[in-house]
Amino acid sequence: MTPTRPNFLVCALLGVMLALAVDHAHGRDESAPPNIVLIYTDDQGYGDVGCFGAADVKTPSMDRLAAEGRQFTSFYVAQAVCTASRAALMSGCYPTRVSMAGALNHTSTVGIHPDEWLLPEMLKERGYATIILGKWHLGTVPEFAPLENGFDQFLGIPYSNDNTKYHPVLHATMPPLPLYDGREVIEQDPDQALFTKRFTERAVAFIEAEKDRPFFLYMPHVMPHVPIFASGSFEGTSARGLYGDVIEELDWSVGQVLAALEKHGLDEQTLVIFMSDNGPFLSYGEHAGSSGPLREGKLTTFEGGVRTPCLMRWPGTIPAGTVCDAAAMTIDLLPTIAGLVGGTQPERTIDGEDIRPLLTGDETAASPHKALVFYAGGELQAVRSGRWKLHFEHDYLTVAGEPGRNGKPSNFDKLTPASITQSGIHGIASRHGYKVAHTPLALYDLEKDPGEQHNLATRHPDVVQRLASLAEPIRAELGDRLSGVVGTAIRPAGNVAEDR
Ligand code: MG
Repeated sequence: MTPTRPNFLVCALLGVMLALAVDHAHGRDESAPPNIVLIYTDDQGYGDVGCFGAADVKTPSMDRLAAEGRQFTSFYVAQAVCTASRAALMSGCYPTRVSMAGALNHTSTVGIHPDEWLLPEMLKERGYATIILGKWHLGTVPEFAPLENGFDQFLGIPYSNDNTKYHPVLHATMPPLPLYDGREVIEQDPDQALFTKRFTERAVAFIEAEKDRPFFLYMPHVMPHVPIFASGSFEGTSARGLYGDVIEELDWSVGQVLAALEKHGLDEQTLVIFMSDNGPFLSYGEHAGSSGPLREGKLTTFEGGVRTPCLMRWPGTIPAGTVCDAAAMTIDLLPTIAGLVGGTQPERTIDGEDIRPLLTGDETAASPHKALVFYAGGELQAVRSGRWKLHFEHDYLTVAGEPGRNGKPSNFDKLTPASITQSGIHGIASRHGYKVAHTPLALYDLEKDPGEQHNLATRHPDVVQRLASLAEPIRAELGDRLSGVVGTAIRPAGNVAEDR
C-alpha cells in the first residue's frame, strides 16, 4: 500500500466537510431546485426598459438582469390584456383554451377553473413556499382567489386599480378597492402611491424568511397601470414625468429583490424572470408607456401589444450578457419551470413548450414553436412562424385625435353617456378614447420590419398560405369569431353563478 492512498482519503473527506460547511453557510443544499422569482409589471411598454432602448427612464436594475443574464427580444404574452395575459402565464394555455378573456371586474362571477393545473400549484406540490404580491386578476370571488390556487400568501388586489373611484369614465359606479392579505380584506382604497414600496418590503421579508427552502416569489405589480402613482421618494424625480417616476420606482424594487438574494447567498440558486403583462395603454398619453420601435400597444395583436421586454437571470446557469431572439411565449413558463424543478406537468392539454434550451443553451437555440397565434378576445387575429407574422383581416384599436393628458384618455372631452355603454370593441374604444381601425390581410417580416410597416402579403402568397395553414389546427381547437369557427377543445372557466 502506498502512502498516498490515506492522504487521498483524508483530502476527499476534508473536501466533503468543506462542501457541507459551504452549503450550511448558504443555508441549503446546492442541488435543491432553484427559487423562482417572477416579476410581472402591468402595461409597461417594450420601450420602457433601458436595455430595450428607453432613453428617458433610468432602469439600472432591469438592465443588470440583462448584463448578468439573457435578454429575450421576441418573447410574447398570449393576449394584450390583464386577465387573459395572466391566465396564460399561470396555466400554460392560450387564454381562449381556458375561457379567460379581457379583464375581470368587481362583478365577475367567473375565474380560473379549479381543475386547471397552475404554476403555483405545481411549485407548492414540489415543496416551494409561494407568495403573490400585487394584482391577481384570475377571479374576484373567494372561490377563485390566490390561496385556493397554490399560493401560501397574498398581499394585493383582486382586479385592476382603475376599477375604483379613479376610473376616468365609470368612477361613480365603482366600489372601493379592496387590499387583501391572505383571505382577509385589510384595507379599502389603500394609498396606491405605496403599492410598489409595500410589495417590495414584503418580498424582501419573504426571501429572508424562506431562504432555507425553495420559494416562488410572484410579483405582478399593480403599476404602471393607470391610474399611476409613485411614492414620495420617487415622485418628481425622473426626466419622463410621473410615468418615468413609476418605472424608476419599479426598477428600485427589482434592485431590492436582487440585493436580498445576494445578501442571503441565493444568486446562483435563483431564476429571476422579468417582463410586462402587455404593451402600453397608449390612449393615456403622458401616463402611458412606449412601445419603442413596435407598432400599437395594449389590447392589440400588433407587436407593441404582445411583445414583452423579457429578461432572465440565473448566474452560473444562464450565460451572462446574452440575447435570445427566438420566439417564445408566457405559455412556455409552466412546462419549462416544471422541467427545471422536477415538478408535475399538467395532465390536460396545454399550448406551451419546454424552452429550457432557450434559457440555458447557446444563443442560437431555436424556438420549439412551429407557430404562435395571437388572439384578441375570441378572434384569432395573427400568427407568427419564424421571421414571419401574418395578420388576418381584423379591426383594432388605435389612438387618433387628442392625446391623453393628466390621467385622462385621448378624446376625453368628446365622450358621451351613450358611447360609454356600447359593447364590444366600440365600447372599449369609447371608454378609453381609442378609434377603431381596420387592417387587411397583412404579412410582415419581423426580422427586417419589427414595426409591422411593410405589408408583403401580395409579394409572398406562398408564405401567407403556409402561415394560414399553421393557424388552422389551433383555430379548429380554440375557435375564431372572425371566421365563425366554434372551437372543439375549449374548457370552461369556473363560474360560481352556475353553482349558486
Ligand atoms: Mg396589463
